[in-house]
Amino acid sequence: MTKKELFFKLKEKLDTLYENPHCTLDYTTPFELLVATILSAQCTDARVNIVTKTIFPTYNTPEAFAKLSEAEIAKMIQSTGFYKNKAKNIRNCAAMLVEEYDGIVPDTMEELTKLAGVGRKTASVILGEIYKKPAIVIDTHAKRLANRMGLTRQTDPVKIELELAKFIPREFQFDFCHRLVAHGRAVCKAQKPDCQGCILHDTCKYGQKALKKG
Ligand code: SF4
Repeated sequence: MTKKELFFKLKEKLDTLYENPHCTLDYTTPFELLVATILSAQCTDARVNIVTKTIFPTYNTPEAFAKLSEAEIAKMIQSTGFYKNKAKNIRNCAAMLVEEYDGIVPDTMEELTKLAGVGRKTASVILGEIYKKPAIVIDTHAKRLANRMGLTRQTDPVKIELELAKFIPREFQFDFCHRLVAHGRAVCKAQKPDCQGCILHDTCKYGQKALKKG
């Protein structure tokens, strides 16, 4: 079976399981999503939502964040972890948006990844979620599941993204990644995947092996 054929088999089942995949970060503007996505590194979306709920009513524009000091931002985002680094990135990102992009979050991978703290994963979230462009988001769940399922053997997220982009049709890329994340949270957990109860076990490479052994 080619990887493209494997993708379509997995997609068919995941589509029925997760009919309405969606971003679990709360936001009302592109900039809010950008900040929330930067905060979500090494942190759960639920925790980020708790934190941004207290920040965004007061500060939710690049202009507002650019006027704050790193220490002020750090204090507000402390519970998301790695807060000093994140505060520095958010402050610099906001300043760049004000100075170079008229305060508007750009809509290309090239421009987005020039912003402080914005790697390909964060840029892909913005491209897919805000601008409805094709985007492959490889977070920790997507990385683990793509490997287990047999879609890739790469471990570097950028290499996984580029490999998947070769055989996943552009129109399915973003939603498929959402479904991988949803399945990673619900069933295919890092420590203990529930292959026995998984709808994909006869298609997924890891699942086939695990059930044969069992
Ligand atoms: S069969 Fe197992 S490894 Fe494969 S997706 Fe399901 S839970 Fe994960």
